[in-house]
Amino acid sequence: MEQVLRRVEELRSQLHYHNYRYYVLDDPAITDQEYDALMRELVALEERYPELVTPDSPTQRVGHAPLSQFATIRHAQPMLSLANAFDGEELAAFVSRIQRQVGTEVEFVCELKIDGLAVSLDYEEGVFVRGATRGDGFEGEDITANLRTVRSIPLRLNQPVTVNVRGEVYMPRADFQRLNEQRAAKGESLFANPRNAAAGSLRQLDPNITASRRLDVFLYALNMAGGPGAHLDALNFLKELGFRTNPHARLCRGLEEIEAFIAHWTARRAELPYDIDGIVVKVNDLALQGELGNTARSPRWAVAYKFPAEQVITKVLDIDVQVGRTGILTPLAHLEPVQVAGSTVSRATLHNADIVAQRDVRIGDYVVIQKAGDVIPEIVRSLPERRTGEETLFAMPSECPACGSEVVRLPGEAATRCVNKACPAQQQERIIHFASRGAMDIEGLGPAIVDQLIQAGLVRSAADLYRLKKEDLLGLERFGEKSAQNLIDAIAGSKDRPLARLIFALGIRLVGAEVARELANHFHSIHELGKATEEELMAVPAIGEKIARSVVDFFSDPENQRLIGELEEVGVSLETQVEQESGDALAGLTFVVTGKLGQFSRSEIEGQLRQLGANVTSSVSKKTDYLVAGEKAGSKLDKARELGVPVLSEAELLDFLRNRGISLD
Ligand code: NAD
Repeated sequence: MEQVLRRVEELRSQLHYHNYRYYVLDDPAITDQEYDALMRELVALEERYPELVTPDSPTQRVGHAPLSQFATIRHAQPMLSLANAFDGEELAAFVSRIQRQVGTEVEFVCELKIDGLAVSLDYEEGVFVRGATRGDGFEGEDITANLRTVRSIPLRLNQPVTVNVRGEVYMPRADFQRLNEQRAAKGESLFANPRNAAAGSLRQLDPNITASRRLDVFLYALNMAGGPGAHLDALNFLKELGFRTNPHARLCRGLEEIEAFIAHWTARRAELPYDIDGIVVKVNDLALQGELGNTARSPRWAVAYKFPAEQVITKVLDIDVQVGRTGILTPLAHLEPVQVAGSTVSRATLHNADIVAQRDVRIGDYVVIQKAGDVIPEIVRSLPERRTGEETLFAMPSECPACGSEVVRLPGEAATRCVNKACPAQQQERIIHFASRGAMDIEGLGPAIVDQLIQAGLVRSAADLYRLKKEDLLGLERFGEKSAQNLIDAIAGSKDRPLARLIFALGIRLVGAEVARELANHFHSIHELGKATEEELMAVPAIGEKIARSVVDFFSDPENQRLIGELEEVGVSLETQVEQESGDALAGLTFVVTGKLGQFSRSEIEGQLRQLGANVTSSVSKKTDYLVAGEKAGSKLDKARELGVPVLSEAELLDFLRNRGISLD
């Protein structure tokens, strides 16, 4: 018994520590699966020895007490966790318990379990007034200012209702990857997963930091007197009010339909742009939910089916180094092939030398690898306890493995780079990137073909692609008449891609797809962008000093200037395309947009206005028809008042457009 008690206490103190790391620091030290295993062991012990259950046991509580840096908000109704089902049997037990208790057929709603963090939002007469984290379920942190920066959280609803709603704030996977890439480039610590990145971004003392991160929300619960009587209707009502709800919720009658929903999403979760960690099954009838009630920790009318572990253990056979398009050397682990989440994995990136050291990964080690809903597997940590003494440490090479040039690591950066711009490995990666999906999207031009074209001496830069002729390809292995023509057509078809894609395709350091879009909206042509100074670049929202410097560096490099000249020569469009379908609803009107807007960024609004045919300029004059002013509008607002130019708030602009039959949201 003494041993049991000791183990129970040990588990509680470990879980308490990990709750703190996860909920307060947003920096978990163990994986969710490891956490769940500890929790299950404690639950099992407490079930066997109920006399050991204490009210402060982690099995009886939710989350962690709020952080004192934030003001606290008391939840009018507690925000609970969810009971888990880890396999089909536990799920079946949940469904049959409910059916038994109710005595008749019960309707359930199945939803995706979004892997983010729960928030509670209060609206008074349709206006957003307060928002909080879940905290310990009773009291959460007041993060109202940060939530206001999340674009999909409406500041005003379509109806003047007083409601409390709950949902999950999350970071889309692509934004998470970009954020971590930027952090890696700056030598900052990386977020373990999108969930922690979302939590870390939302629980910031400075709302400007939150605003700079791409967060999104799905609402899934409504607390309102006299509201709908069924959960699915509540979801529809949330949508009507103007909230973003997840489109995949489904009504399921009985276990079979629930299982089919789960099977469907288990197979397709990687296709979603965000992470989900399971499926939530809820009783549809809200009156029935009330009757079933809650335990101290979770409602009895819902269960979270958790997806099977996507982590497995395997051995590192070797670590070698790959050279990326910007010259960054990335250590790549070669693994004993294993099955993870339905596919065979034999390689995993280790990002940079610091990560190899932090995760203490050696050649010959056994490691935990993970493929969490994601396509790129990664090494979570090594298992030092399984070492034999035969393992060897990895060291970054002192010269580039592709061209033998010197490599450097700049102070404050995690990345090691090859300094030779003509390095063949870099050239190859640059062309692969140029042709890739998010960039110029040249179908059929993947890594293997690029390699072939370079080996054959046909292509040295992206511009060379456009000079290829069918006859050049016919001489190559794997190419027939038809496939050669298809590739030539696909390359030619990419000449008129939107400017944002071209900017992204150029592979400018720190310029991802999103930043490229901002730059395109602002500058309208590569030549304008190339002329911009650091100051001018930094005036664009989302562009900081580092990105601005990187853009200026890129365009001042003669190699890159030559590439752009050649792209122009071969007929690649370097300017914003005049959209055929772009309306002329605002033709003849001149707008200036200033200050900090809420729902949209300034450049988004400017882009939209331009698309509608308006003229958008940067300074207010007598010719300005309207000034759209957000918070802290400053001198332009003064000038507009002085000249008698009408001023619109963001909401007024949206009304103005709505009156013309145009909706931006
Ligand atoms: P949970 O994440 O298992 O489930 C409850 C939460 O699900 C809700 O609070 C809500 O935020 C979310 N949710 C997402 N979509 C939803 C939907 N459609 N409807 C309703 N709710 C939805 O429980 P929890 O208490 O938030 O966290 C426990 C889990 O967190 C553990 O199982 C573990 O995986 C992880 N955790 C990990 C560590 C660690 O150190 N790695 C520490 C603590 C917790």
